[in-house]
Amino acid sequence: MRPLIVIGNWKMNGSLASNQDWIKTVARGMESGMPSGRKFVVCPPFPYLSQCATLIKEHSLAFLGLGAQDASAHISGAFTGEVAAAMLKEMGCSYVIVGHSERRQMHQETDEVVAAKALQVLDAGMTPVICVGETADERNSGRAEEVVCGQVAKQVFVLQDRLADCLIAYEPVWAIGTGKVASAQIAQDMHRVIRLQLTEFNGDVAEHVGILYGGSVKPDNAVELFAMPDIDGGLVGGASLNPQDFLAICQA
Ligand code: PEP
Repeated sequence: MRPLIVIGNWKMNGSLASNQDWIKTVARGMESGMPSGRKFVVCPPFPYLSQCATLIKEHSLAFLGLGAQDASAHISGAFTGEVAAAMLKEMGCSYVIVGHSERRQMHQETDEVVAAKALQVLDAGMTPVICVGETADERNSGRAEEVVCGQVAKQVFVLQDRLADCLIAYEPVWAIGTGKVASAQIAQDMHRVIRLQLTEFNGDVAEHVGILYGGSVKPDNAVELFAMPDIDGGLVGGASLNPQDFLAICQA
């Protein structure tokens, strides 16, 4: 049985003061207990990882894991501005998002780069959260499945059985930060396609890999999305900035 996982992606938001308030509010909300069989993760910007790791420890937040929003495709060396996976592990991270559409679009990250990053994250002992998803044009021209399956295929080709230790996040680009959530059925249909694609590769891998949905997840649509058989949780951007909304989605 795959656990339900909710991952908050703060993107380039936060401050020392607001992070403290966020963790304090989430700690208070989680004190009274959370649904069992679930995992919760927060991904702050790099400079705040250490602060958030300390706050999570101080508040004994056993329910909340720490993640990063990206990692380098390289182990170490002359890569100014990049952050190695091993450094993130040292900071207390257990998860790293790779291939977010904002990085694919704004930083020209290819599927090959994304797979190289996922390998670095795995080698450092963490779980990569590999993002895939089609643009509005690709969906409107009937190519959504072809595009997403192509992205997944590249990951399968490079990662092979190690994919069992990864999470995949289906994030239709047209739904990210737009308020246009995919209907639960559209999301489920694509998750099913991805699951079947993984099954064709290796049934055991397919059973293990959690497939999260991302794209305008909010407290009022999370229940319906998470009830779908192939949706194993959510990657939440904007709504995760509000601790009450994040808690509500975690409890959905
Ligand atoms: C994201 O950043 O991965 C995301 C899904 O953002 P939002 O929830 O704001 O659409």
